[in-house]
Amino acid sequence: MKQNRLNLAFRFGLIALFTVFSLAGSTQNAAKSLKRIVIDPGHGGTDPGAYGKFSTEAAVSLAISLKLEQYLKEALPDVEVMMTRTTDIYNSVVEKAKIANQMKGDLFICIHTNSADPSRKSEIVGHTTKTYTVKKKGKKHKVTRQVPTYKVTYTPNTARGTETFIYGVGKSDEKKEAAGEMVDDVVEKLDSESEKQIKELNEEDPTRSMMASLLTQQFFQRAASLALTIEEEFKNAGRLSREAKQRPKGIWVLQAVSMPAVLVETGFISNPEDEEYLNSDEGQNQICEAITKAIIRYKTSLSNQKTGNAN
Ligand SMILES: [Zn+2]
Repeated sequence: MKQNRLNLAFRFGLIALFTVFSLAGSTQNAAKSLKRIVIDPGHGGTDPGAYGKFSTEAAVSLAISLKLEQYLKEALPDVEVMMTRTTDIYNSVVEKAKIANQMKGDLFICIHTNSADPSRKSEIVGHTTKTYTVKKKGKKHKVTRQVPTYKVTYTPNTARGTETFIYGVGKSDEKKEAAGEMVDDVVEKLDSESEKQIKELNEEDPTRSMMASLLTQQFFQRAASLALTIEEEFKNAGRLSREAKQRPKGIWVLQAVSMPAVLVETGFISNPEDEEYLNSDEGQNQICEAITKAIIRYKTSLSNQKTGNAN
Protein backbone atom coordinates (compact mmCIF):
# COMPACT_ATOMS: atom_id res chain seq x y z
CA MET A 1 0.00 0.00 0.00
CA LYS A 2 2.66 2.44 1.06
CA GLN A 3 4.84 1.15 -1.73
CA ASN A 4 2.08 1.83 -4.26
CA ARG A 5 1.55 5.36 -3.09
CA LEU A 6 5.25 6.04 -3.31
CA ASN A 7 5.30 4.51 -6.73
CA LEU A 8 2.45 6.74 -7.86
CA ALA A 9 4.11 9.85 -6.43
CA PHE A 10 7.32 8.88 -8.17
CA ARG A 11 5.56 8.48 -11.48
CA PHE A 12 3.83 11.84 -11.14
CA GLY A 13 7.18 13.37 -10.29
CA LEU A 14 8.70 11.87 -13.42
CA ILE A 15 5.89 13.20 -15.58
CA ALA A 16 6.29 16.70 -14.12
CA LEU A 17 10.04 16.52 -14.62
CA PHE A 18 9.60 15.32 -18.17
CA THR A 19 7.25 18.22 -18.91
CA VAL A 20 9.82 20.70 -17.64
CA PHE A 21 12.60 19.11 -19.67
CA SER A 22 10.64 18.93 -22.89
CA LEU A 23 9.49 22.52 -22.39
CA ALA A 24 13.07 23.53 -21.69
CA GLY A 25 14.24 21.84 -24.87
CA SER A 26 11.52 23.49 -26.92
CA THR A 27 12.21 26.90 -25.41
CA GLN A 28 15.89 26.48 -26.19
CA ASN A 29 15.08 25.69 -29.79
CA ALA A 30 12.49 28.43 -30.11
CA ALA A 31 14.91 31.00 -28.71
CA LYS A 32 17.99 29.61 -30.40
CA SER A 33 18.21 31.51 -33.64
CA LEU A 34 18.52 35.23 -34.20
CA LYS A 35 15.61 36.36 -36.33
CA ARG A 36 14.74 39.83 -35.13
CA ILE A 37 16.94 42.57 -33.69
CA VAL A 38 15.45 45.64 -32.00
CA ILE A 39 17.67 48.73 -31.98
CA ASP A 40 16.89 51.37 -29.36
CA PRO A 41 18.47 54.79 -29.95
CA GLY A 42 18.92 56.27 -26.47
CA HIS A 43 16.91 59.29 -25.25
CA GLY A 44 15.20 61.61 -27.80
CA GLY A 45 12.67 64.44 -28.00
CA THR A 46 12.34 66.26 -24.69
CA ASP A 47 15.14 64.09 -23.28
CA PRO A 48 18.38 65.08 -25.04
CA GLY A 49 20.55 62.92 -22.77
CA ALA A 50 24.10 64.16 -22.21
CA TYR A 51 25.50 67.30 -23.85
CA GLY A 52 28.77 67.66 -25.67
CA LYS A 53 30.19 70.96 -26.87
CA PHE A 54 28.12 70.97 -30.05
CA SER A 55 25.93 67.84 -30.06
CA THR A 56 23.51 65.89 -27.87
CA GLU A 57 23.51 62.24 -26.92
CA ALA A 58 19.99 61.80 -28.37
CA ALA A 59 21.03 63.06 -31.82
CA VAL A 60 24.30 61.11 -31.94
CA SER A 61 22.59 57.91 -30.73
CA LEU A 62 19.91 58.23 -33.40
CA ALA A 63 22.44 58.88 -36.19
CA ILE A 64 24.50 55.83 -35.18
CA SER A 65 21.39 53.64 -34.74
CA LEU A 66 20.02 54.52 -38.19
CA LYS A 67 23.38 53.61 -39.71
CA LEU A 68 23.54 50.41 -37.68
CA GLU A 69 20.12 49.44 -39.03
CA GLN A 70 21.52 49.65 -42.59
CA TYR A 71 24.73 47.81 -41.70
CA LEU A 72 22.80 44.94 -40.07
CA LYS A 73 20.25 44.67 -42.89
CA GLU A 74 23.06 44.42 -45.40
CA ALA A 75 25.18 41.96 -43.41
CA LEU A 76 22.28 39.78 -42.23
CA PRO A 77 19.56 39.84 -44.89
CA ASP A 78 17.67 37.00 -43.20
CA VAL A 79 17.37 38.95 -39.95
CA GLU A 80 14.67 41.53 -39.40
CA VAL A 81 15.90 44.80 -37.92
CA MET A 82 13.47 47.06 -36.07
CA MET A 83 13.81 50.43 -34.36
CA THR A 84 12.12 51.80 -31.24
CA ARG A 85 12.39 55.26 -32.83
CA THR A 86 13.60 56.66 -36.17
CA THR A 87 13.01 60.35 -35.44
CA ASP A 88 13.71 62.78 -32.61
CA ILE A 89 10.82 61.73 -30.37
CA TYR A 90 10.59 60.97 -26.68
CA ASN A 91 9.55 57.56 -25.41
CA SER A 92 9.80 56.64 -21.76
CA VAL A 93 11.87 53.55 -21.01
CA VAL A 94 8.60 51.83 -20.06
CA GLU A 95 7.23 52.52 -23.54
CA LYS A 96 10.51 51.45 -25.15
CA ALA A 97 10.45 48.12 -23.33
CA LYS A 98 6.82 47.64 -24.33
CA ILE A 99 7.59 48.39 -27.99
CA ALA A 100 10.51 45.93 -27.98
CA ASN A 101 8.42 43.19 -26.36
CA GLN A 102 5.59 43.72 -28.84
CA MET A 103 8.12 43.44 -31.67
CA LYS A 104 9.09 40.05 -30.17
CA GLY A 105 12.78 40.58 -30.80
CA ASP A 106 15.51 38.03 -30.13
CA LEU A 107 18.01 40.74 -29.29
CA PHE A 108 17.70 44.26 -27.89
CA ILE A 109 20.53 46.67 -28.45
CA CYS A 110 20.52 50.17 -26.94
CA ILE A 111 22.81 52.82 -28.41
CA HIS A 112 24.00 55.60 -26.10
CA THR A 113 26.94 57.94 -25.57
CA ASN A 114 28.72 58.27 -22.28
CA SER A 115 29.46 61.45 -20.36
CA ALA A 116 31.76 62.31 -17.47
CA ASP A 117 31.56 65.50 -15.38
CA PRO A 118 34.54 67.83 -15.38
CA SER A 119 36.45 67.77 -12.11
CA ARG A 120 35.94 70.87 -9.96
CA LYS A 121 38.83 72.19 -7.94
CA SER A 122 38.59 75.15 -5.61
CA GLU A 123 41.64 76.65 -3.93
CA ILE A 124 42.25 79.64 -1.66
CA VAL A 125 44.22 82.23 -3.58
CA GLY A 126 44.17 85.10 -1.05
CA HIS A 127 42.11 87.06 1.44
CA THR A 128 40.02 90.18 1.37
CA THR A 129 38.80 92.32 4.18
CA LYS A 130 35.07 92.63 4.51
CA THR A 131 33.21 95.03 6.74
CA TYR A 132 29.98 93.97 8.40
CA THR A 133 27.50 95.96 10.46
CA VAL A 134 26.35 94.18 13.60
CA LYS A 135 23.88 95.29 16.24
CA LYS A 136 24.93 95.06 19.85
CA LYS A 137 22.64 96.25 22.65
CA GLY A 138 20.67 98.32 20.15
CA LYS A 139 23.78 100.04 18.83
CA LYS A 140 25.30 99.50 15.42
CA HIS A 141 28.93 98.47 15.23
CA LYS A 142 31.22 98.01 12.31
CA VAL A 143 33.27 94.81 12.30
CA THR A 144 35.93 93.82 9.80
CA ARG A 145 36.82 90.27 8.94
CA GLN A 146 39.34 88.48 6.77
CA VAL A 147 37.58 86.42 4.16
CA PRO A 148 39.38 83.93 1.92
CA THR A 149 38.97 84.27 -1.81
CA TYR A 150 38.65 81.13 -3.87
CA LYS A 151 39.49 80.26 -7.40
CA VAL A 152 37.38 77.50 -8.91
CA THR A 153 38.73 75.65 -11.89
CA TYR A 154 37.06 72.99 -14.01
CA THR A 155 39.30 70.48 -15.68
CA PRO A 156 37.63 68.58 -18.51
CA ASN A 157 37.29 64.92 -17.69
CA THR A 158 39.61 62.90 -19.85
CA ALA A 159 37.42 59.76 -19.78
CA ARG A 160 37.01 58.32 -23.27
CA GLY A 161 36.30 55.08 -25.07
CA THR A 162 33.54 52.50 -25.14
CA GLU A 163 31.75 50.28 -22.64
CA THR A 164 28.92 47.80 -23.04
CA PHE A 165 26.47 47.08 -20.25
CA ILE A 166 24.24 44.20 -19.39
CA TYR A 167 21.73 44.34 -16.56
CA GLY A 168 22.97 44.16 -13.01
CA VAL A 169 22.85 41.29 -10.59
CA GLY A 170 19.90 41.11 -8.24
CA LYS A 171 17.64 42.42 -10.95
CA SER A 172 16.55 39.05 -12.24
CA ASP A 173 13.09 39.23 -10.71
CA GLU A 174 11.98 41.89 -13.15
CA LYS A 175 13.67 40.03 -15.96
CA LYS A 176 11.88 36.86 -14.89
CA GLU A 177 8.57 38.66 -15.06
CA ALA A 178 9.30 39.69 -18.64
CA ALA A 179 10.54 36.18 -19.41
CA GLY A 180 7.28 34.86 -17.97
CA GLU A 181 5.41 36.49 -20.83
CA MET A 182 7.76 34.82 -23.26
CA VAL A 183 7.06 31.47 -21.60
CA ASP A 184 3.40 32.06 -22.43
CA ASP A 185 4.32 32.63 -26.07
CA VAL A 186 6.42 29.47 -26.21
CA VAL A 187 3.69 27.37 -24.59
CA GLU A 188 1.13 28.81 -26.98
CA LYS A 189 3.34 27.89 -29.93
CA LEU A 190 3.94 24.37 -28.62
CA ASP A 191 0.24 23.81 -28.03
CA SER A 192 -0.62 24.79 -31.57
CA GLU A 193 2.15 22.62 -33.02
CA SER A 194 1.70 19.44 -31.05
CA GLU A 195 -1.31 17.20 -30.69
CA LYS A 196 -1.17 16.84 -26.97
CA GLN A 197 -1.89 20.10 -25.26
CA ILE A 198 0.57 21.16 -22.68
CA LYS A 199 -1.36 22.00 -19.59
CA GLU A 200 -2.17 25.65 -19.13
CA LEU A 201 0.38 27.26 -16.94
CA ASN A 202 -0.83 29.84 -14.50
CA GLU A 203 1.45 32.28 -12.79
CA GLU A 204 1.88 30.20 -9.66
CA ASP A 205 2.71 27.06 -11.57
CA PRO A 206 6.19 25.88 -10.59
CA THR A 207 6.82 24.72 -14.16
CA ARG A 208 6.16 28.22 -15.38
CA SER A 209 8.55 29.78 -12.93
CA MET A 210 11.21 27.19 -13.77
CA MET A 211 10.81 28.02 -17.43
CA ALA A 212 11.10 31.70 -16.65
CA SER A 213 14.30 31.04 -14.70
CA LEU A 214 15.78 29.05 -17.56
CA LEU A 215 15.00 31.81 -20.03
CA THR A 216 16.33 34.52 -17.72
CA GLN A 217 19.60 32.62 -17.37
CA GLN A 218 19.79 32.16 -21.11
CA PHE A 219 19.16 35.87 -21.80
CA PHE A 220 21.82 36.78 -19.28
CA GLN A 221 24.45 34.41 -20.73
CA ARG A 222 23.74 35.55 -24.26
CA ALA A 223 23.82 39.24 -23.35
CA ALA A 224 27.10 38.73 -21.49
CA SER A 225 28.69 36.90 -24.42
CA LEU A 226 27.55 39.56 -26.91
CA ALA A 227 28.74 42.41 -24.66
CA LEU A 228 32.21 40.84 -24.47
CA THR A 229 32.28 40.32 -28.24
CA ILE A 230 31.23 43.93 -28.96
CA GLU A 231 34.01 45.29 -26.74
CA GLU A 232 36.47 42.90 -28.41
CA GLU A 233 35.49 44.25 -31.83
CA PHE A 234 35.88 47.82 -30.58
CA LYS A 235 39.40 46.91 -29.46
CA ASN A 236 40.08 45.33 -32.86
CA ALA A 237 39.03 48.61 -34.44
CA GLY A 238 41.55 50.46 -32.30
CA ARG A 239 39.13 51.98 -29.78
CA LEU A 240 39.88 52.26 -26.09
CA SER A 241 37.61 49.68 -24.46
CA ARG A 242 36.45 50.12 -20.88
CA GLU A 243 35.19 46.54 -21.12
CA ALA A 244 31.81 44.83 -20.78
CA LYS A 245 30.16 45.53 -17.44
CA GLN A 246 27.20 44.85 -15.26
CA ARG A 247 25.74 48.05 -13.95
CA PRO A 248 24.92 47.41 -10.30
CA LYS A 249 22.24 50.07 -10.32
CA GLY A 250 19.90 48.88 -12.97
CA ILE A 251 19.26 50.15 -16.42
CA TRP A 252 15.56 49.56 -16.23
CA VAL A 253 14.93 48.96 -19.91
CA LEU A 254 17.50 46.13 -20.03
CA GLN A 255 15.61 44.26 -17.35
CA ALA A 256 12.16 44.77 -18.75
CA VAL A 257 12.59 43.25 -22.19
CA SER A 258 12.03 39.56 -22.75
CA MET A 259 15.14 38.98 -24.84
CA PRO A 260 18.90 39.25 -24.39
CA ALA A 261 19.71 42.95 -24.05
CA VAL A 262 22.86 45.08 -24.16
CA LEU A 263 23.51 48.81 -23.90
CA VAL A 264 26.45 50.17 -25.87
CA GLU A 265 28.09 53.40 -24.73
CA THR A 266 29.72 54.28 -28.04
CA GLY A 267 32.06 56.96 -26.67
CA PHE A 268 32.22 59.97 -24.35
CA ILE A 269 30.34 62.97 -25.70
CA SER A 270 31.96 64.96 -22.86
CA ASN A 271 35.40 64.32 -24.36
CA PRO A 272 36.13 66.75 -27.26
CA GLU A 273 38.04 64.13 -29.27
CA ASP A 274 35.40 61.44 -28.75
CA GLU A 275 32.65 63.95 -29.60
CA GLU A 276 34.30 64.73 -32.94
CA TYR A 277 34.65 61.01 -33.61
CA LEU A 278 31.04 60.24 -32.62
CA ASN A 279 29.76 62.93 -35.00
CA SER A 280 32.00 61.99 -37.92
CA ASP A 281 30.98 59.65 -40.73
CA GLU A 282 34.22 57.77 -40.27
CA GLY A 283 33.63 57.27 -36.54
CA GLN A 284 29.99 56.27 -36.93
CA ASN A 285 30.88 53.78 -39.67
CA GLN A 286 33.61 52.26 -37.55
CA ILE A 287 31.25 51.90 -34.57
CA CYS A 288 28.53 50.27 -36.72
CA GLU A 289 31.06 47.97 -38.36
CA ALA A 290 32.38 46.78 -34.99
CA ILE A 291 28.87 46.13 -33.59
CA THR A 292 27.82 44.36 -36.81
CA LYS A 293 30.90 42.11 -36.72
CA ALA A 294 30.10 41.24 -33.10
CA ILE A 295 26.47 40.42 -33.91
CA ILE A 296 27.54 38.20 -36.83
CA ARG A 297 29.86 36.30 -34.45
CA TYR A 298 27.03 36.07 -31.91
CA LYS A 299 24.61 34.72 -34.52
CA THR A 300 27.17 32.16 -35.70
CA SER A 301 27.75 30.97 -32.14
CA LEU A 302 23.97 30.49 -31.71
CA SER A 303 23.66 28.37 -34.86
CA ASN A 304 26.75 26.38 -33.88
CA GLN A 305 25.04 25.55 -30.60
CA LYS A 306 22.01 24.47 -32.62
CA THR A 307 23.87 22.06 -34.89
CA GLY A 308 25.91 20.75 -31.99
CA ASN A 309 22.72 19.88 -30.12
CA ALA A 310 21.22 16.40 -30.50
CA ASN A 311 17.72 17.88 -30.08
ZN1 LIG B 1 22.23 57.61 -22.18
